[in-house]
Amino acid sequence: MKIAIDLDATITMYPKVFSAFSKAFKAAGHEIHVVTDRVPGTESDIKRMLDELDIAYDIIHVAKDKASYILELGIEVLFDDTDQYFIELPENVAVMKVRGHYNFDYKEKKWMYSQSAGKV
Ligand SMILES: [Mg+2]
Repeated sequence: MKIAIDLDATITMYPKVFSAFSKAFKAAGHEIHVVTDRVPGTESDIKRMLDELDIAYDIIHVAKDKASYILELGIEVLFDDTDQYFIELPENVAVMKVRGHYNFDYKEKKWMYSQSAGKV
């Protein structure tokens, strides 16, 4: 299975979870794509960060249009914190939403629409 994971406010929100998850899934033969809407050309910074966080992965892909990349490569699941990246994905792509203080109101116990939530 091919798995896409966002970086900012997803991996960085729960780095221990994604470290354990990514290593276990990669060891089981799955392919991990870190797909991030960071500035193009920052791949070496991203790689350094992933190494520091002990994340196992196969590919780093920088893209504003995550859905096209996911569909093109036949990726089956996206972990992300931002709703806008889920909208264009068809039903057969699983979406796993990560919550944080900017997209979930812990006091009111409800989600907030996170159109532009990004680098936290
Ligand atoms: Mg994010």
